[in-house]
Amino acid sequence: MIRETSETILSVRDLTAEINGTPILKGVNLEVKAGEIHAIMGQNGSGKSTFSKVLSGHPAYEVTGGEIIFQGQNLLEMEPEARALNGIFLAFQYPLEIPGVSNLEFLRTAYNARRKHQGLDEIDTFDFEDLIQEKLEIVKMNPSFLERSLNEGFSGGEKKRNEILQMALLEPKLAILDETDSGLDIDALRIVANGVNQLASAENAMILITHYQRLLNYIVPDFVHVMEGGRIVATGLKELALELETRGYDWVRAKEATEVGAR
Ligand code: ADP
Ligand code: MG
Repeated sequence: MIRETSETILSVRDLTAEINGTPILKGVNLEVKAGEIHAIMGQNGSGKSTFSKVLSGHPAYEVTGGEIIFQGQNLLEMEPEARALNGIFLAFQYPLEIPGVSNLEFLRTAYNARRKHQGLDEIDTFDFEDLIQEKLEIVKMNPSFLERSLNEGFSGGEKKRNEILQMALLEPKLAILDETDSGLDIDALRIVANGVNQLASAENAMILITHYQRLLNYIVPDFVHVMEGGRIVATGLKELALELETRGYDWVRAKEATEVGAR
């Protein structure tokens, strides 16, 4: 394998997690290296969003077993803020609206927090304006969105673009995009995918969580995983997504049953 020497960014082993005492994740294993794009697919309720929230440190979820190593560090011992500062970015399936906080203010605060963490000075206001203009280009967003309250009254597609704008600005080591494609029309989907493709590099990694194969026409993953019942039950190359599209999730289930039976 060409990538054998690549740095491991994320290593998840036998991860179990619950919410309100209900087990949701039942032993997730995943290995993500620098330069890789992973897609996690699966039916509604299979645990995809739960997995992304556990990675970001959402307080409602309790990890009951297993481990998550992020760039050599025990992620489970890091507070959500520390995770973000160390380069984990989660684009939510349902981005929050924060009335009273302008988008620009929010972006500058987040950007400066990351700079401070990296031991750098706060960015000058004018330099930030230039930088943000450059990033707006990537998502083809109108600058007027910067003056509005964060996500307030944004359409579904605008919120998703705004998430990609945040990602473009923060340049995370690991970006997790939870159903960033849902609610997007084809033009917005192209713009979002384009943004992701521009930001993907040999130094970072992406996990795309999606219900549909559609997004994967625009962002080609290195690996496709199928989540089912809180576990990753199948892993393949990009062709697996196409196969799922034509054969459905029942086919993976049947395939898994045969393989397990044959062991
Ligand atoms: P996906 O993103 O794959 O659609 P989720 O991770 O959102 O799946 O949900 C996985 C399972 O966890 C579902 O059965 C869902 O009902 C359950 N779940 C999610 N959040 C909660 C909650 N707050 N309380 C109880 N069950 C929950
Ligand atoms: Mg979900």
